[in-house]
Amino acid sequence: MKTAETSTRATSDGPPGYSHVYFVGAGPGDPELLTVRAVRLLALAEVVLVDDLAGEAVLALAPTARIIRVGKRGGCASTPQSFIERLMVREALAGRRVVRLKGGDCGVFGRLAEEIAALDAARVAWTVVPGITAGIAAAATLGVPLTDRERAHGVAFITGHGAEGADVDWSAFAHSRLTLVAYMAVARVGMLASNLLQAGMPIDTPVIAVERVGSMSKRNLASRLIDMEASFKASGLASPAVLLIGEAMRERALALMVGDAVRLPAQVG
Ligand code: SAH
Repeated sequence: MKTAETSTRATSDGPPGYSHVYFVGAGPGDPELLTVRAVRLLALAEVVLVDDLAGEAVLALAPTARIIRVGKRGGCASTPQSFIERLMVREALAGRRVVRLKGGDCGVFGRLAEEIAALDAARVAWTVVPGITAGIAAAATLGVPLTDRERAHGVAFITGHGAEGADVDWSAFAHSRLTLVAYMAVARVGMLASNLLQAGMPIDTPVIAVERVGSMSKRNLASRLIDMEASFKASGLASPAVLLIGEAMRERALALMVGDAVRLPAQVG
């Protein structure tokens, strides 16, 4: 029988009834920022495997699904990646409608490639439904274009994890005139700053940290690259937060630093 789900799937990588997993981007936590497709798939889901960054308000849209929490937030007890993959395959092969829900967009620091490889190996079909990634949501709350044509040549999503590794070309980033959007950087703010400064990025490069975008307790903190470790530590910056680094942030960072009571758009959190 043809269901609403099979008739409208985005990829036709299997006949109707074939085992199928939907990777769904949950956005930054506010259900109003989900795609219509995400809302529909959550309503139809029988099993939802969810990361800890996907908010409770989003899960409420899957009232009949079994919710399996497989989060692995840094520092807390974590679910091994291989276990998540096995579980996803098992549920799909059992013929259940599986949604793999991830915070933001599944393809931005979401281990999507590994999970797709596991499904491919088990001959389970899949579809990726895009979500609003934290960096895009953060820029929207600030009202700052990441690709401001006067000030940025483009945008790069980077991870603070890379701050520890030697294989990142910091010099390329430092001289790129790209807006850098750094994920998973809170614990590595100092290392990130020193890598960029050593690579020649100007010391007064503006940085805005957006904490818990999509929630009522969202905070924006501004600094210069040279001071960002001390300044963000003093403000108690906590995960999850994204750092937006580059000239496109200049005016908004200055306004935040002087405590200007600029009213920010309220559509995200
Ligand atoms: N796939 C996610 C990113 C996962 S990596 C996305 O597209 O948004 C986890 C990192 O995402 C966190 O360390 C943080 O840098 C960022 N992040 C996720 N949710 C966030 C939120 N609500 N507010 C700020 N940053 C967030």
